[in-house]
Formats: sequence, C-alpha cells, structure tokens
Amino acid sequence: MEIEEIQSQRDYIEHCKRVHSYSEAVQRILDLSESYIPDAEKAYKEGKKKAIWASGYGWEVPLIYASGITPVAFSEMGRLSDKETMQIAEDYYQFPVETCSMVKCTVGQWHLRREATTFKRILGNSSACEPYNLAWEIMKQKGYDVYNTDVTYRGPTVEGKRLEELVEFFVKEIYDVTEWLTGVRKVDEDKLRIEIQRKNRLLIKLKKVLELRRKHPFYVRSLATILMLNVGLNNYFGKPDEYEAAIDLLIEELENAPVNEKDLKNVIPLVWAGGTGQEFGIYEAIDQAGGALLGLRSVPFKLYREDIPPVESLARWVYDNAGAGAGVYARNVLEHEVDKLSARGLILYGYIGCSFASVDREMWRKYFHEKGIASINLEGSFQTGAPTGQVITRVKAFVEMLA
Ligand code: SF4
Repeated sequence: MEIEEIQSQRDYIEHCKRVHSYSEAVQRILDLSESYIPDAEKAYKEGKKKAIWASGYGWEVPLIYASGITPVAFSEMGRLSDKETMQIAEDYYQFPVETCSMVKCTVGQWHLRREATTFKRILGNSSACEPYNLAWEIMKQKGYDVYNTDVTYRGPTVEGKRLEELVEFFVKEIYDVTEWLTGVRKVDEDKLRIEIQRKNRLLIKLKKVLELRRKHPFYVRSLATILMLNVGLNNYFGKPDEYEAAIDLLIEELENAPVNEKDLKNVIPLVWAGGTGQEFGIYEAIDQAGGALLGLRSVPFKLYREDIPPVESLARWVYDNAGAGAGVYARNVLEHEVDKLSARGLILYGYIGCSFASVDREMWRKYFHEKGIASINLEGSFQTGAPTGQVITRVKAFVEMLA
C-alpha cells in the first residue's frame, strides 16, 4: 500500500506496517491496535470474553481486568467513524453541530450497535465533560447499562485530613464500580495486585522505550508511537500479554539497532500535546517532513504504590494524578518534556468543539511563544480517509520551518 492509495484509517495502519517492515515489534503493536475492537466484539459474541465500553485509561483499567472483564476504549471507535456516523448524533439525537466530534462519533457508533449482539455496558465518568454526560443519558434511554463514577478532583493545596477523606470516598467508589461490574461488592485483591504490578512494569518498560528512541528517533514513526503510548499503554488493546510481549521485543530491537548518526543530525524532535488524533494523515505529514514525536504530554508515568493494599493504591494514584485541573500543571509537564528532549516545537492537538481544551491550548501557545518555542495549534474533526486538506499542509509547513 502506497501513501497515494490510502482511503481509510485501516489503510493508514497497513501503510504504517509496510513502513515498519524492518520491525516485527512495531507490526505486532499495529496489529493489536487494528484488531482491538473487532476482536473484543468477536470474543464476546462467541462467549469467550466479557467486555465493557470504558474510557480505557487510568485506575479503572487494572480494576476491570482484575474483575475478569476486558475494557474496550470507546474513543477508539473514532477511527471506525465518518461524517455519516456523526450525522446520527446531529440529526437523530439533535446534538448541536458544534458539539465535540469525539462524542458525536461515539454516540453514532453506539447507536449503530444498539441492536447488534455486542456488549451494551458503558462505564462512564461524570467528570469527563458535558457532551459526554449528555451521551451517557441518551444511551441509557436506548437500553445501554451505563454506570458513571463520580467527580474526582484534588485541589492543589489539599493534603492531610481532607486528602484522607477523599481517598476514603474513592475507595467506596471503587467498591461501587466493582459491584456494578461483577454483581458482588468484593474486589479480588490478589488479581488487582497482579494488575497493578503489570501496569507498573509496563510504565517502566515504556519509559525505557522513550529513552531508547532518543538514539533511534525514526525507528517507531509517529502513528505507531501514538497508538503504542496513548492507547496501548493505557489499556493494552484488550490483550495485556500480547502487548507486553510486543514491547519486550521492541526494547530488544531498539537495543540492538545500530545508531544512525545522520538521523540524529537531521531529526526534528517534537512534543505532542494532545489526545489521540484520529486524522492519521497528520502523523504522515510529520514523518514526511522529518519530525519525530519524542515526547508526549498525556503519557501517565506515575507508578501505583505497591506497599499498600491494592484498592487504596488505586485511590491514591487517582489523587496523585488528578491534582491538576488547571492547564498550568499540564503546561509544566510540556515544558519539562521540551527541555529534556531539546524539542524544536510543540504540536498542540485537540478536537473541534472542546471548549476547555481549546482554552488550554491558547494559553500554552502564548506561553511557549513568549519563551521562543514554536508551536502549532490543530483542531481535529475525526476526519477519516485520504491525507488531504489544509491541516496536512499546515503540519508539513510547520515541521519544515523548524528544520
Ligand atoms: S475532547 Fe473535550 S469535549 Fe470532547 S470528549 Fe474530550 S473533554 Fe469532552
């Protein structure tokens, strides 16, 4: 498959596999990404696996796996979507046109599945955003079993007794979710401990991959990087053992790959500040212009504590990580990545219709501009298909300008 022949996101993944023909590890990661949703739905249909729709990141992933269930990230349905899927949300459910395209895609996909033999349970989150809160309510009316966890937020100065109260509150939430997942208000602590160990192990391994990539910036290109980190590291594409085996193989490959001095001289190190862009052509444009996504804002690298009971460990992890709330904390992470990698630019990516993320991006753009660090602010629309359009031209021009 050549780049000119690309018509869909699946084509992009096939193209990416071809580009990485030298790496079995990257091909395996791309295979896992491609088969994530279809395989989970097939296994469920055949009665081989239990599965639910979930955001597919954070504390809930170890808990869901420990409950014997596969978490399937609903945001990954974006790349199965197109304009028609979004129109279901706009025309049938009367979502305003300006609503975030990620939410509209998800709603459209659930609508299409409402009568199919697939899992109809959704673990939502009341602290996500208003458009998703609307989606949960609508899906309940359409027969989905939706459970929402409550808002979790730790203000920057919250410590001591107040923090302990929050932890206690969240431990109760974890038991509530477990009861919804399994029908029993009992967490299998042994299995949860194993899942926490797995998560920590993988976080450490991925840190190593990121370190090794600094010597081999083009070994894992942009699309594969985003899928491996933003999706795979969060939920393992529904196949934890296979994902970990692919990462082990990647580390081995990177450790044995000869360093190419020309690549190190020519590379344009970039930091990606955003979610998983569904317009895969953006990644192709970065690659073609000589850029390499070596830093990411959204990779959660804080380990879970293993010295305390596993349920408490999940709760404490939440408050250690959800302390932010304000864009300024995320900006600090970005700045740290830029400094560490001597990055030449930042790619600020968000979805059209997400009002608060667009405010963050504007703040960051201004801040980094004043510090002399170039950035480009992109708004994605879940556009699928061939790599055309103004956004691709802008990305290429931006990366080339940094060369
Ligand atoms: S991008 Fe913004 S509006 Fe869209 S789902 Fe995420 S938080 Fe909500």
